Amino acid sequence: MSRPDPIISPAIITRVKEFGESDLLVTFFTRESGLQKGVAKGARRSLKRFVNCLDAFCLASLEYTPKKQRDLCFIHSGKLLEAHQGLRSEYGSFSRASFIVELAETLFPPGVSDPRVFDLLKDSLKALSDEGGNILIPITFEARAMAIGGYRINLEKCCICGRAYKGEGRAVFVREKGGISCLGCRQESALSPGMEPESIRALRQMQDNDLGQLKGLDLSGGCLKEIKNVLKLHREYRLEKRLKTAKFLD
Ligand SMILES: [Zn+2]
Repeated sequence: MSRPDPIISPAIITRVKEFGESDLLVTFFTRESGLQKGVAKGARRSLKRFVNCLDAFCLASLEYTPKKQRDLCFIHSGKLLEAHQGLRSEYGSFSRASFIVELAETLFPPGVSDPRVFDLLKDSLKALSDEGGNILIPITFEARAMAIGGYRINLEKCCICGRAYKGEGRAVFVREKGGISCLGCRQESALSPGMEPESIRALRQMQDNDLGQLKGLDLSGGCLKEIKNVLKLHREYRLEKRLKTAKFLD
């Protein structure tokens, strides 16, 4: 039986666990194949083959033999590309990085890959590391990752009467429809919170653009709060679970 050839690919390490006597169990994202799990044999002994690259949130170049279906892949060696040191030195940055990684793993489990998510994750970890845990980064990550995962909030029209939203006046988030409605169709409440036009505009940009295109996105505290709350209601409703790390956004 022939084995597949090893491949070398940039990878974002999401989790590392001790495994057996001297091995590490490593979970990582690649651009082409999405989330994968593999064993780095002897990694706790070998200083040469994995120089400081098997740490959560690192970007590394991994050499590995792809697995068959659900088996663990075999990681031969790795080289550090970006340590994202800022994520280890500051608690706020570390906890927000933990949130985006958990959300990415939940939305894109093994077998469900999208190259845009790898790029988004890579850019977001770097930005969090460089910018000291800026709260805008996990919020933007969430809006965009949910949209790529098929859960884009429809902000173009009232999801009840169908009237186009022209960007004027408050609208209401309607959780069960994954959209917004006009005030005539739904009243504001805790589960159907209202949104300012500025929030709707910003959320639309976050859903549809890469992080790099959002430079200079300037949000008032009120809008950020509205968007964060809507995304939380949307996430919990669509994913039907609470993420362990979601508390780090507060
Ligand atoms: Zn309506």
